[in-house]
Amino acid sequence: MSFPFQGVDFLSFDSLLNEDERMVRETARRFVEDNLIPIIEKHNRESTFPRQLIKPMADLGFFGINLHGYGCAGMSNIEYGLVMQELERGDSGIRSFASVQSSLVMYPIHTFGTEEQKQKWLPALAAGEKLGCFGLTEPNFGSNPGGMLTRARKTADGYILNGEKMWITNGSVADVAVIWAKLEDENNKVRGFLVETNRPGFQAKDVHGKWSLRASVTSGLSLQDVHIPAANLLPATGGLKSPLMCLNQARYGIAWGAIGAAMSCYDTALKYALERKQFRDQPIASHQLIQEKLSWMITEISKAQLLVHHIGKLKDAGKVSFEHISMAKRNNVWMAIECARMARDILGGNGITDDYPIMRHMMNLESVKTYEGTQDIHTLIIGSKITGIPAF
Ligand SMILES: Cc1cc2nc3c(=O)[nH]c(=O)nc-3n(C[C@H](O)[C@H](O)[C@H](O)COP(=O)(O)OP(=O)(O)OC[C@H]3O[C@@H](n4cnc5c(N)ncnc54)[C@H](O)[C@@H]3O)c2cc1C
Repeated sequence: MSFPFQGVDFLSFDSLLNEDERMVRETARRFVEDNLIPIIEKHNRESTFPRQLIKPMADLGFFGINLHGYGCAGMSNIEYGLVMQELERGDSGIRSFASVQSSLVMYPIHTFGTEEQKQKWLPALAAGEKLGCFGLTEPNFGSNPGGMLTRARKTADGYILNGEKMWITNGSVADVAVIWAKLEDENNKVRGFLVETNRPGFQAKDVHGKWSLRASVTSGLSLQDVHIPAANLLPATGGLKSPLMCLNQARYGIAWGAIGAAMSCYDTALKYALERKQFRDQPIASHQLIQEKLSWMITEISKAQLLVHHIGKLKDAGKVSFEHISMAKRNNVWMAIECARMARDILGGNGITDDYPIMRHMMNLESVKTYEGTQDIHTLIIGSKITGIPAF
């Protein structure tokens, strides 16, 4: 049973949006209704990535959406956020795919790359003709990427890379991997490298058995004496700050995306509660305990919308800090998981099936809570900012 989506707007949030922003959201919403929602349960059940969505998403300008030039749409950060919200209302895995392509692959090339690298990769990535992945996490270094063991060594004409990366979204479907490694010849400073995935010594193996983000590809990467030319170094990278700048871009989009998942759960639960009858032939929506859950959900969704809108405006004005973005990612993903759990509860037994999107969102959000800085790490980032004491 499916319900058409009408949007969730309790506080006249739409009055904060201009015409362009509303139009971009409507376009993304229609794309999700027409193309994503009809196929997602099957892909989720079979754990397959819907490659057929790549081209239409590219045609709508969803890749590199807030970047300028090189075939990118050059939209505002609010528009970027609204698109992420709509995509994640469909599925967190598809939003993850778009986040990685845009914020973790195109952004570093745009920000740290040479003109030649930008010309070579950005138009093809924007068009969805080439796909990318971002290799920072390693089997033994997740929350603390500074401990990474992957190493690069200079050769006469380039670099040799060795190491293992883990939990890499888009890993086995990528044409190019942005690999973060310590450069031995520069006192082990972290640098970013563009590694074409067909180079000898590069291998990607998918992680199977995931109960979360099943429609998204997640892989382990192995680099064994992978030789790349000198021109593949991202020259403006220097230190851990560089990959963290990329994560900041993605985390901002995730904070919006999580609202989409929450909206889907709330909308489904509200409609179900108005139809489902228990006791005295009354809809369960007439019971106070159900209303309490729905009221909690709409309140938290509304607060989350205002939070990201404010942060989006700060970002457009160049005034956002990474602690602001940590607050939005931490709050909104937590809020979305709580909404999913409450919505699941409201649907009773029906809530555990994939006839409804709730359980899929709930399982997806467990990954969203962990990746791009876990809930706890964002807590510590905020704590460090307000106390001046890093507690990592
Ligand atoms: C589906 C999926 C896709 C991903 N995609 C990518 C990708 O594309 N590219 C990429 O590079 N990475 C990716 N990741 C990796 C992700 O960013 C890491 O999983 C995340 O950073 C956490 O690292 P970890 O899993 O090693 O957990 P750990 O770092 O081992 O953390 C385990 C637990 O310990 C807690 N913890 C750690 N340190 C502290 C501390 N100092 N104080 C208190 N608690 C602490 C954490 O909060 C967590 O609860 C992905 C992960 C998943 C699950």
